[in-house]
Amino acid sequence: MHDALTAWLRTAAARLHDEAAALTALDQAIGDGDHGINMDRGFGAIVAMLDGRPPRDGGTSEAAATADVVRAAGKTLISTVGGAAGPLYGTAFLRAAAAVTAEHPSSAAAFVAAVEAAATGIGALGKATTGEKTMLDAIVPAAVAARAALEAGGDTPSVIRAAADAAEAGSDATIPMLATKGRASYLGERSIGHRDPGATSAALLFRTLADVTGSRPG
Ligand code: ADP
Ligand code: MG
Repeated sequence: MHDALTAWLRTAAARLHDEAAALTALDQAIGDGDHGINMDRGFGAIVAMLDGRPPRDGGTSEAAATADVVRAAGKTLISTVGGAAGPLYGTAFLRAAAAVTAEHPSSAAAFVAAVEAAATGIGALGKATTGEKTMLDAIVPAAVAARAALEAGGDTPSVIRAAADAAEAGSDATIPMLATKGRASYLGERSIGHRDPGATSAALLFRTLADVTGSRPG
């Protein structure tokens, strides 16, 4: 779990760097044009944090080592990213770390618990729910789909793939939505017809995890 996690964070940083201009263009349409810059900066700082960490202590359990990295990533996002997305994603990672620390019967179950905790944390901090054209419109469907795949007996790659598919569909579904949270809400009706930047970056993060854990788009 620990090694898949660090591979995910590094690959996500590279993809967010490549997608920074596209994410920023989405944010130019309905926000202030910094979402790509914010995510690139935050994940670049996560890579620097990973590079600076001592090698993993062999005495630490897999779950504890995983939670430590998730927690450090969350703190890095909160301290390096301005704007709404830094604290929101940072809180998501801190909540996920707490969820991963608990005992889980499988890595798939730990993943589902982490995504559910992340969604709850974002909703609480942002005082938002689904249908408001935010990152939650990708993350909540991902959590629901992952839970369903887990309960249907899916293995870890298929549970993560279910989350990634649902996050992408959720991101698509933000296009016709009216924004009622965040900067995009200032636009009112003019927010309709644009994809939400945060939902887009969230879908990218889930797809990246699906790719690094070996699942293929189904
Ligand atoms: P800022 O809006 O401060 O410029 P970013 O551009 O980095 O920050 O992030 C914007 C994204 O943050 C939006 O696309 C949306 O997905 C998400 N967001 C904004 N406000 C909220 C909120 N209250 N709850 C959940 N997500 C939010
Ligand atoms: Mg912005």
